[in-house]
Amino acid sequence: MTNNNNNKSINEMVLDIRNRQRIKPSSNDIPTASWKGKDLFNGDIVSTLTIIFKTDGCYWGKAGGCTMCGYVYDSAAESPDDSNLMNQLNKSLEKLDENEDVIIKIFTSGSFLDPNEISLVSRKGILTTLGADQRIKKIIVETRPEFVTNSALEESLGYVGNKPFEIAIGLETSSDKIRLESINKGYTFNDFIQASEIAKKKGVTTKTYLLLKPPFISEGQAINDIVKSANDIVPYSETISINLCNVQKGTLVERLWENKEYRPPWLWSIVEAIKAIKSEHPDILVMSDPVGAGSERGPHNCKECSKTVANAIRTFSQTQDLRVLENLSCDCKLTWELVKQLDDLTYGSPITV
Ligand code: SF4
Ligand SMILES: [Zn+2]
Repeated sequence: MTNNNNNKSINEMVLDIRNRQRIKPSSNDIPTASWKGKDLFNGDIVSTLTIIFKTDGCYWGKAGGCTMCGYVYDSAAESPDDSNLMNQLNKSLEKLDENEDVIIKIFTSGSFLDPNEISLVSRKGILTTLGADQRIKKIIVETRPEFVTNSALEESLGYVGNKPFEIAIGLETSSDKIRLESINKGYTFNDFIQASEIAKKKGVTTKTYLLLKPPFISEGQAINDIVKSANDIVPYSETISINLCNVQKGTLVERLWENKEYRPPWLWSIVEAIKAIKSEHPDILVMSDPVGAGSERGPHNCKECSKTVANAIRTFSQTQDLRVLENLSCDCKLTWELVKQLDDLTYGSPITV
């Protein structure tokens, strides 16, 4: 970290960076993104439709927020109204075939259950439409834990009927210290537990996102943190999804990376973490999609093996079969072993690219 940042809080540093970014104007009738994919559901591989609604954005991120998050720049330049949001939904649903079974994953670059982002009218409109659509087998909505209340869940369940409903929370780590000092997430592990318990009582499942290697921790600490976090959240989570920290534009992580004070995680690290977590908890779903794998801004090993290892991680996520991670090898694994030992001495500043 450069000297002139020494007196600033981490939130002030993130906010400084945010204030220098511009949000590009684009139509509010089109979602930020929507795409189809595949996921495990009740033991079968089924289609998924991910929708990132364009909203006013995450209230926490707009006030500074998380050190690695560039999603706030995906928000709308001007507030979308309820009809804009329904148009975004309908546009996304056009991607589905007539008779396919599908899981819908809703993101907003913030919190679906924040009424300032998705109004109560839009919440009703979106969930009622999804509830009535026979192709849709399950609905997952991402939210910060403070918006998971009895009334929000009761209302949502009323709209989706008897379809499985899941909340997805970006807890990132069970360590309050790392969440506070490396991520600046603004809530505690207890807040997450409370949300997940409210959900459980209503028959709503919880998917938890963990973050491998936020800034200011070493490669070895990052692996230990993910494995410990997974152990800690098992009672509160049906699915664990591990995001590998990547360098997004307009973030504190990007600033550190440009200053050579941050390197995204090695793919060997996630392989080690998945093996440890899945062996310990065979029944829990462990997923990871190594977004941007192989690039300098994304999680990477060496150029020779990054693609193969990333594909193996994706295959594992769809099969939950640890054997796909068994026979991976490359010369760079030795370097990674060394990094794990030496990185601890540099407080997470990279010793290799
Ligand atoms: S990571 Fe989530 S909570 Fe943090 S700023 Fe981004 S959208 Fe908001
Ligand atoms: Zn390699």
